[in-house]
Amino acid sequence: MNINNSSLTPILLDGNTIVPSKIVCVGRNYSQHIAELGNAIPSEPVIFIKPNTAIKDDLMTHPKDAIHYETELAFVIRSGTIHAVGVGLDLTKRDVQNSLKEKGLPWERAKAFDGSVVFSEFIGIGAKGADFELRLFIDGRLQQQGTTQNMLYPPHELLSNIAEFITMLDDDILMTGTPSGVGKIELGQAFCAQVLMNNNVVIEKTWRVTT
Ligand code: ZN
Repeated sequence: MNINNSSLTPILLDGNTIVPSKIVCVGRNYSQHIAELGNAIPSEPVIFIKPNTAIKDDLMTHPKDAIHYETELAFVIRSGTIHAVGVGLDLTKRDVQNSLKEKGLPWERAKAFDGSVVFSEFIGIGAKGADFELRLFIDGRLQQQGTTQNMLYPPHELLSNIAEFITMLDDDILMTGTPSGVGKIELGQAFCAQVLMNNNVVIEKTWRVTT
């Protein structure tokens, strides 16, 4: 593993690099995914954090643990509000997470490891209100689909809830949870994630699963 302790990992926003200090994530934000994992509907958003070091360009299997994908609408935050949209894969060691959950332990070993998130480029959306949709195709087959309207907590509600206890610095990222259809990544698979804004595809990102 190449370790460079001197720099944070950038992402792309409208063709320029920006550096998020952290990624604030939401679990259990779509009812069909809650049912799929057998979880209870939360009475407030389930929040966890990935550090900047979680960000990688490549979608990779792990030598020891199975990696599961969760496709999520992601937003760059500026001045405490939504500035840009993108799509990310919240990569999860599901077996590790399940055993941590059973013991009531924190999820970092399952959710915050190096390479536990990959992102598309982000595009600025300014103050425009819009409905967003995500789609994930694996080897050309539609595997996940969800919209901001399907969320238990839409992005603006999440942001105000999070602001009660976490400061979102400019360029920090909010990930908004995954719809149903999660599963394990397999070597060689082609992933294609899309963001649709008012029913038009505005972002498309592909990855090939490597080791
Ligand atoms: Zn997730």
